[in-house]
Amino acid sequence: MTSRILLIYTGGTIGMDLNPATGALEPLDFNHLIKQMPEFAAIPAGIDVYQFEAPIDSSDMNPKLWGRLVEIIVGHYDRYDGFVILHGTDTMAFTASALSFMLENLTKPVILTGSQLPVNQLRTDGKENLITSIEIAAAHDADGHPRVPEVCIYFSGKLLRGNRSTKINSEGFNAFDSFNFPPLADAGVNIIYHDEIILRPDYTKPMTPHFAMDTNVVVFTLFPGITKEIVLHLLEAPHLRGIVMRTYGSGNAPQLPWLMEALTEATRRGIIIINITQCAAGPVQMARYSGGFLLQNVGVISGYDGTVECTIAKLMHLLGHTTDTDLIREKMSRSLCGEISL
Ligand code: ASP
Repeated sequence: MTSRILLIYTGGTIGMDLNPATGALEPLDFNHLIKQMPEFAAIPAGIDVYQFEAPIDSSDMNPKLWGRLVEIIVGHYDRYDGFVILHGTDTMAFTASALSFMLENLTKPVILTGSQLPVNQLRTDGKENLITSIEIAAAHDADGHPRVPEVCIYFSGKLLRGNRSTKINSEGFNAFDSFNFPPLADAGVNIIYHDEIILRPDYTKPMTPHFAMDTNVVVFTLFPGITKEIVLHLLEAPHLRGIVMRTYGSGNAPQLPWLMEALTEATRRGIIIINITQCAAGPVQMARYSGGFLLQNVGVISGYDGTVECTIAKLMHLLGHTTDTDLIREKMSRSLCGEISL
């Protein structure tokens, strides 16, 4: 049986070309991409294409466009076996994280990919990334279920859980990594799937889309020398509802009385503060050092080993759906779709 795949083209380097006037890369439409890639016609899957009217550089991605992607997937869900999203690399990990929460009980693959070099360049990585992503989105197991019913990023030989991924390289072809969770598949001569870690949905239930995202949030990084005035200014920002605080090491912070008082006051006002580490790998363990212990005491919640992209997306998603801060705190502290290890 030939799988049917919907290829959603949002833009990104893969389909870009040089603007002769400025010398900068600009997104072009899908026909441009396809002209550079005769191999596309030979891919053994039924592929239809849906493209954003105006393809974008992914630095222009936003929660409204995530909603568009969810709408497109929902509108085509029953007619396709899987979805491949062509997306710029810069914000791909944010989009993949957001979609993992917006597509609850996902029963079909949603694979995001792109490239570091446009597809019309001789050494492009775009062709392999696109062709392998389509193969992965089309793959089934012996029961006829999709092999990878998750939101993933495929890049440079690795299939990563989307909400565990981070862009790590602006130059090398290995643009993404997932420091706290192993790849779901490795693509070499063969594609080796690591079935034991791939999430299985409840096939008796439908996929439930979610759209609401509250953007009254901020990512805030601690650094030696941080000042009281600036932190207080941030915490008093109108409408602020959530903070992803990037702390040191295993969730540690300076033991400054004014900082602890400010955070206590913010949590008292219902602001959700999540502690994630500035380290690329490893979890937050707040009780390990006294600075982290103090944060725990003032009501800061552990973000465990979540990435910054995933933690901010999860926070926006939860804040978009409820004002019940206890419920948000409870859901932040458990894994909804494989995004943290407890
Ligand atoms: N600036 C580009 C984008 O994110 C980079 C890329 O696609 O690799 O759209």
